[in-house]
Amino acid sequence: MCDNKVRVYVSTSMLDSTEIEINCGDIYNDGHNTKTAMCPTCGLKAVADYPQGWEYAPGDRCKHGTYIGGDRDCACHCCESE
Ligand SMILES: [Zn+2]
Ligand SMILES: [Zn+2]
Repeated sequence: MCDNKVRVYVSTSMLDSTEIEINCGDIYNDGHNTKTAMCPTCGLKAVADYPQGWEYAPGDRCKHGTYIGGDRDCACHCCESE
């Protein structure tokens, strides 16, 4: 990612959330999901590069939509048979 700062909302309690500033590309948890903070430029690029979407960070899903992040052993069967 780039050197831009990104403002994101993270929950501090059941009803409260607060805005923090982190680096583009940093992983954070908004209280519900783990996400990757991305500035608008990187966000658009990631969506263009990974139209299948992603779980936590761009690139952790293959083009079939299978989660391949973290554990390299849990690869996609479709990818393997290509
Ligand atoms: Zn960025
Ligand atoms: Zn695949």
